[in-house]
Amino acid sequence: MAGSDPAAGAGSAAGDGVRVAVVGGGAVGVTAAHDLAAAGADVTLFEKGDLASGSSGRAAGVLYDAYAEDVDAELGARALERFRKLSGTGEFEFTECPYVMLAREGDDDLAEAVAGAAERMRVHDRDVETVDGDALGDRFPSLRTDDVAVAAVARNAGWVDPGSYVAAVADLAASAGAEIRTDSAVAVSTTPPGVTVASEAPVTRRFDAVVVAAGAHTKRLLADAGIAVPLKPYRVQALVSARGYDGPMWYDASAGAYARPHPAGLLAGDGTVPVEADPDEWDLEADDWFLADAGEVLRDRAGHDPDVERAWAGLCTATPDGDPLLGAVADGVFVAAGWQGHGFMRAPATGEVVARQVLGEREGVPGFDPGRFDGDEAFEISEGMAVETDDGAENRD
Ligand SMILES: Cc1cc2nc3c(=O)[nH]c(=O)nc-3n(C[C@H](O)[C@H](O)[C@H](O)COP(=O)(O)OP(=O)(O)OC[C@H]3O[C@@H](n4cnc5c(N)ncnc54)[C@H](O)[C@@H]3O)c2cc1C
Repeated sequence: MAGSDPAAGAGSAAGDGVRVAVVGGGAVGVTAAHDLAAAGADVTLFEKGDLASGSSGRAAGVLYDAYAEDVDAELGARALERFRKLSGTGEFEFTECPYVMLAREGDDDLAEAVAGAAERMRVHDRDVETVDGDALGDRFPSLRTDDVAVAAVARNAGWVDPGSYVAAVADLAASAGAEIRTDSAVAVSTTPPGVTVASEAPVTRRFDAVVVAAGAHTKRLLADAGIAVPLKPYRVQALVSARGYDGPMWYDASAGAYARPHPAGLLAGDGTVPVEADPDEWDLEADDWFLADAGEVLRDRAGHDPDVERAWAGLCTATPDGDPLLGAVADGVFVAAGWQGHGFMRAPATGEVVARQVLGEREGVPGFDPGRFDGDEAFEISEGMAVETDDGAENRD
């Protein structure tokens, strides 16, 4: 990433003399820390546990740029560009693989929504094709397609091991001069910006800027600093099956489940529980109903009878409008959270955006400014991967 990526700021002195604390050692935090350090900033990253011990280490690693909205498509494409450039660094490998989003016969609203979304993706120059069930079956014989009404096939896509991304980028950040502190839970303070490491309390370290990329803990961390943001953590689930699978990545929108190839065989997921979870006390194990439902969809869609090697739950974060909170929330305090299940695949781009915002090099992303909310909004959690239909309803599993 460093050196090979001029847009990341490598070699620039934009950050010279700027002291920045990054809170959170997930995909977003390590990316921001890397880009800031590569731009010359004096960066310390604080992670309360191990690197990738939050959602990033539990993510499925499905990556694509197939978004219907222009800003999302742009961030998705930029992220893929950086993922590919990083491939081969440390243990990190990017594996090219098409991504299929499909709706079943009889699910007319959803079929229309998938086709409409694919059309909008093409408007934003995404490499996405709309096909019927027969054409999908010809292309991907490993999938059952006789019940498919419509599918969108995105070619700019692939999968990775998310933990290896965090490790590789954290190493690059350290090489660029960032200090990476694990086992360092912090509290955030404002005016002036600072952090208090739990083990050093009550000493507060002052910084020119603090980036809060603390995933599911972000709302609590900012609330303790007197800043209200509307974020709700919720559980999603995944499993790895040890049985072989060599088809495309797919998301069955009618069933609300997805799968991708995995070195062990196959990785499948969703199992969204659209209920606010306590980020300090939640169930890390997969639910029995998720295993049963996922097994049924896998047998049905891919003729895959899962041999479950491991299964788990993790937290995603929802916002009232489904868009992230990315930008300043107070003088020198920045937030990067609220990814609605799409935080990993956009992390190389969103981490870059927040780093450049800290350095005053760019404006925020239209529609992602945290200032659009008061922070006390009441809202329902909507599933991240859901396809919005015309009446505004979303498919849920
Ligand atoms: C099962 C599952 C599958 C998923 N699949 C995908 C996918 O295929 N593609 C995709 O794009 N997204 C996926 N996601 C979502 C993705 O995991 C997240 O959006 C993304 O990892 C968020 O990254 P982050 O860096 O913002 O947060 P995190 O990875 O959660 O990092 C935040 C870090 O902050 C640390 N922290 C918290 N509080 C403090 C504190 N007080 N002091 C110091 N550190 C603190 C935490 O320990 C944590 O390590 C999935 C999620 C799950 C659970």
